[in-house]
Formats: sequence, structure tokens, C-alpha cells
Amino acid sequence: MTLKLYNTLSRKKDEFTPIDAKNIRMYVCGPTVYDRPHLGNARSVVVYDVLYRLLCHLYGKDHVTYVRNITDVDDKINAAAKANGEPISALTQRIEGFFHEDMAALNCLLPNKEPHATAHIPQMVAMIEKLIAGGHAYVAEGHVLFSVSSYKNYGALSGRKLDDLIAGARVEVESYKREAGDFVLWKPAEAGDDPSSVFPSPWGAGRPGWHIECSAMSSQYLGDHFDIHGGGADLMFPHHENEIAQSCCATPHSQFANLWVHNGFLTVNGEKMSKSLGNFTTVKDLLDKGVKGEVIRLALLSAQYSKPLDWNDKLVEDAKKTLDKWYQILRRHSREGGNPQETGMPDSIGMTAYLGAICDDMNFPKAFSLMHSASPEELRMMGAVLGILQQNPEDWFKGFGADYSRELRADIKNAIDEVNSKQAEIISLIDARIAAKKSKNWAEADRIRKELLEQGIILEDKPDGTTDWRRA
Ligand code: AMP
Ligand code: ZN
Repeated sequence: MTLKLYNTLSRKKDEFTPIDAKNIRMYVCGPTVYDRPHLGNARSVVVYDVLYRLLCHLYGKDHVTYVRNITDVDDKINAAAKANGEPISALTQRIEGFFHEDMAALNCLLPNKEPHATAHIPQMVAMIEKLIAGGHAYVAEGHVLFSVSSYKNYGALSGRKLDDLIAGARVEVESYKREAGDFVLWKPAEAGDDPSSVFPSPWGAGRPGWHIECSAMSSQYLGDHFDIHGGGADLMFPHHENEIAQSCCATPHSQFANLWVHNGFLTVNGEKMSKSLGNFTTVKDLLDKGVKGEVIRLALLSAQYSKPLDWNDKLVEDAKKTLDKWYQILRRHSREGGNPQETGMPDSIGMTAYLGAICDDMNFPKAFSLMHSASPEELRMMGAVLGILQQNPEDWFKGFGADYSRELRADIKNAIDEVNSKQAEIISLIDARIAAKKSKNWAEADRIRKELLEQGIILEDKPDGTTDWRRA
């Protein structure tokens, strides 16, 4: 099966040809840890999580290296720490914890490496030194700047022309820049800066620019030439354009990334979901409302990854209905004696068509349409590539809390005890209701049904006289 992905650099769907099929390498720009992730951030993480799972499926888990950084030094972090009145390291550690918790609730796998920017300052300094030595960067007023006109391919990714960039600079250009498009590699510390955001360098104490972080960390873990670089469409310019310029100038003759993948925006009424517009919903907001992580994940996958996806309540409702339907198929299958973990028939016609859709620039809508006519075993396999349908179907319908697996992770023993005692309570009420019905005490039977419904438990009477139940 050949994987094709839209490559922003070539502006067409490219066949993915690994540099080394035994070591596929992907870098994705990770979060700047200053605030809890919103659904727009989550869309990006979920999309690359699917791409990672797909690469593992196609080439084998041991042959894929996925690196996603943590940006823990940045102006936005300094500003947020100041506003909260807390030390920078306390803020970044807290938000990183939230990020991991929320992404785990969405069933996102951890990357193979998750480097922190603050742990790679010497690599950034070394790269900046190379750029200065090669005539691609200059020092001015305590800053080090990259000279965009020193790189002839500048603008190739985003399609922007250097001359337009310079002529079109509307904001006042800082006096220390030679040209408007030049960007910061190193900036000096300011009086009153939290010492944990100040690092030594040959150009004085300060901190790195955002772009150099990704160039230095990708090169450290994936080398100067790797397969795929991903991120949101907003990162194409200037962030990714600048990463290419830095990496290609620091290591002449290197290619940097072969394939550039960009996920489309999650929007609200057509506008990008963002912190600055204030139109955001955090993943945690939804989990706290009782929406399951897997439902959020499926909702985030409802459009083809590179297209915009407009967020609304209906996406969540539809995703829940779809997952209920699929888990119902899996539950019936396992109750009829099928193994719930069983996956088989990797070469079935359905599975082949499904992989064809996913490999065609991750065509999620087509893939979902094929899932609607899949067998239970196929459903499990198909779901594995998308990171859905891997729970025990009984847990799906009977699990408690916003996200069962997340609660289990947080405090495994307490969560299991709580779930077990709650289940025992429900079963004894169901037994009491069956007894009430036997003695024709319909009022009592109805009262019990209502009592359970108020707790979000729906009873399903079966023709054979037994009663099953599920969470609403
Ligand atoms: P930020 O916290 O803004 O640096 O964003 C972190 C990641 O989330 C980046 O890869 C962004 O491209 C991505 N991102 C931010 N907002 C959205 C959005 N509304 N839709 C899709 N991706 C987004
Ligand atoms: Zn980056």
C-alpha cells in the first residue's frame, strides 16, 4: 500500500518514499506550555497521532521515530507566568502535565522523544554559531538575527516572495534589523526576567528564538535530513519557513524535511479557534461535562485533516452516536462468543479498501464510510489505525466518569473500586426491580427504573426476561 500525502513544499500529493524504510523519521511542532490545550491544539495532536499510527502500521512500530517537542521557553510563557505571579518552571511543568493528561484522554500515543527546548540550549547556540560563521546571521544590540536575503530559497514553502515580505512590512521594523524579514535567533534578557528563562550565550545572557528550537531539536534526534515535518497551517509561515532557512544554511547541501504536512484549522463559526480570539473550548471543559475522550477524538477526525473543521455540538452528538453503534456491533460479537480483542483478516477486501482511503492523504470521511459496512473484526482493525474502538465494549457502555481510561490512569485502584461498587449497586437494583415485576408491583419497578435513569443509567429489558443496562 502506497502512502500519499499532500506536500506543502511541492504543492501536490506526493508518494511517500522513506529515506530509510527501517527508520522513518517524523518531527511535529509541539505545544508552547503556557495554557491548557484547546480543541484546535488537540486537532493537530490527534491528526499526527493518526499519521504516526499509520506509519507504524505500514512500516512496523520499531521502524518509526516520532519526535514532538515541548516549547518551554517563549515570550508567551514569560507573560503568562508574570500574570499568574508564579515561577516559570512551575507554570511550564503544570501545563505540560495538563497537556499529557488531556492528550492521553484523547488516546494519543506519546511520541518516541519529547525534547524540551530548555534542555537543548547548547545545541541551539552551536547552530547559531554556525549560521554566523557561514554569513547567514549577524549580531546587533545583543540580538542575533537571521539574514533572510542570505538564503536564496527563502519563501519556497509558503510561496511568499522575499521582496514582497520586505516591501510589505507594515509594522515598524526594529532598528537592529538589517531587513524587515530578518528574524531573531537569540534575544537578550530583560531586567526582571525570571532567571529560569535566562541562559548564557556568547552574545550575552538571554533566550533563543522560537524557530531555532525546532531546527536544533529535530537535527539532534532525527538528523539533518528526515522524512516528514508536521504542524498546523498557521505554522507554515513564518515558523516552518524559518526552520528550513536555519537548518539548510547551518548544514549546506542538506534537505531538511522531505514532506511538509499541515493540518487545517479547527474553526468556530468560520473563525480559527484561538486563545487570542477567546472563542476556544478546552479539552478539559468537554471531559468535565462528561464527554468521553474517544468521542472528542472522533469528532476531531470528522473532516479530512487538511480542511477546516467547524466545531459545534452536533459533531460531538454524531461522534457519540457513531461510536455507540460501532461498540454495539463489537459487544454483540463478543457476547456471541467472538473474542473482543480479535483482529484478523488484514487482507480482507474491506480492510484493503479502508487502508487505501487512509493512505490517500488520510481521507478520513471515506474511511468512515467504509467502516459503516465492516465486519466486527474489521472494525477493530480499522479502529486501531485511527486510535478508536480499542476499549472493551462492555466498558464503553458501562464505564463511569468522563473518561474511564483516564480515571483509571489517574488512580487505578480507587477508580476500579468505585466502578465495581457502583456496578454492584446497579445490579442489585435491577434484581430488586425484576423481583418487583414478578410480584406485579409495577409502581416499585417503575420507581427503580426512574431512580436509575436519574443516575444516568438506562435499562434495556430483554425478551428473555433479563435486563441489561448502559450509561446514557
Ligand atoms: P499554539 O499553542 O498556538 O502554539 O498551537 C499549538 C499547535 O496547535 C500548533 O501546531 C498550531 O498550529 C495548532 N493549532 C492552534 N490553533 C489551532 C486551530 N484552531 N486549529 C488547528 N490547529 C491549531
Ligand atoms: Zn516548530
